[in-house]
Amino acid sequence: MYAKNVWKDSTPEKNNKIMAFCEDYKEFISVGKTERLCVDESIKIAKNHGYVELNDIKSLKTGDKVYVVNKNKNIALFNIGTKPLTDGIRILGAHIDSPRLDLKQNPLYEKDGFALLDTHYYGGIKKYQWVTIPLAIHGVICKKDGTVINVNIGENENDPVVGISDLLVHLSADQLKKTANKVIEGENLDVTFGSIPLPDTKKDAVKANILKLLKEKYDIEEEDFISSELEIVPAGKARDFGFDRSMIAGYGHDDRVCSYTSLRALLDGETPEYTACCILVDKEEIGSVGATGAQSLFFENTIAELLTLTGKTNYLDLKHAMTNSIMLSSDVSAAFDPLYPDVSDKKNNAFFGNGVVFNKYTGARGKSSSNDANPEYMAWVRNIMDANNIHYQTSELGKVDQGGGGTIAYILGNYNMNVIDAGVPVLNMHSPMEIVSKADVYESYIAYMAFLVK
Ligand code: MN
Ligand code: MN
Repeated sequence: MYAKNVWKDSTPEKNNKIMAFCEDYKEFISVGKTERLCVDESIKIAKNHGYVELNDIKSLKTGDKVYVVNKNKNIALFNIGTKPLTDGIRILGAHIDSPRLDLKQNPLYEKDGFALLDTHYYGGIKKYQWVTIPLAIHGVICKKDGTVINVNIGENENDPVVGISDLLVHLSADQLKKTANKVIEGENLDVTFGSIPLPDTKKDAVKANILKLLKEKYDIEEEDFISSELEIVPAGKARDFGFDRSMIAGYGHDDRVCSYTSLRALLDGETPEYTACCILVDKEEIGSVGATGAQSLFFENTIAELLTLTGKTNYLDLKHAMTNSIMLSSDVSAAFDPLYPDVSDKKNNAFFGNGVVFNKYTGARGKSSSNDANPEYMAWVRNIMDANNIHYQTSELGKVDQGGGGTIAYILGNYNMNVIDAGVPVLNMHSPMEIVSKADVYESYIAYMAFLVK
């Protein structure tokens, strides 16, 4: 059903399903504040659905359910189908990294009675949105002896939170003359971390006190920050949004909303005809680079491993498996914002409540760097949506030449497989409080399920 409102066509039974599914999702993003935590949660849920680590099995057959984790930040899960892998795989691919502030390698310093943490932002953010809000710190500190210390500060209600200061309005005459991209400078996104000086300490006494507390709590030295990965993210849980509870406010909907719906679509499915896959990647927000990003050889290597376990070791088997695969690049889309109508072409924009969104292309300046899916493939996908009474809509990222963005779609497209972007529309994208419609979350989940079994 194209461009029709889910709620209008819904029943009380379906509304209950939407609400129940979204309770599970809220829990997932409330815990999954980093890519590592999303991988941990995904493993937990997958194990509950009978999935086992690929390393633990010697051969692969129809009905097997396996997962592979890459460097703790990237996971691929497979439900092995009745057809051979060389006939292709149905892939749902989403990213589990989200815009945030990362601590620099040498972050801790003292200035004018405060201990502060220096950050470098990750992904595209409007910097002024990240000041004067409660922030949490998540991640790992890796020590030289191989110990990995998990850090989680600011989520428990008895925990302290941290944050970034902004100038009081009374003294902001000069600051408010600056343009919005300069009003908060990147180098000024430093986290206030403490203010008690260590007694009998002459120099940097507040920093010394923080180092003492860090030693007590985590048994780390200042130099251990060098090998840490600490992410500053909005503190607190995802919550219902709107008086009618139709929406969810939370951090990291982009793209954990499509990650969770894709994961669940895979896990909740029966043994399919074509092997079904969900892959959750890291680093999308900075270009899908590196070993854990979508451009990594991890996925291709994993398919080669799967083929070998089914007795296929020919180089061409791998090529056929990839080329014959099809994919939904599960990523979010910009929802129409009634306060800012001018940036969108209304008839080519996603609306809250109208279901899963297909973006034939994203990109910028004439579709540059976008995947631009084949119409034959789009027609095939439309047919699945209508055959299953799934509400779907189409969109592009705002008006022509208004801006732009990208997804992982084109990267898997490089394997000569058909790919199209499909996901949930988001308001306030890349802000500390993103919003999604519960109806769209559920509709994406059932759209992904229908895709995997077709
Ligand atoms: Mn995204
Ligand atoms: Mn994004």
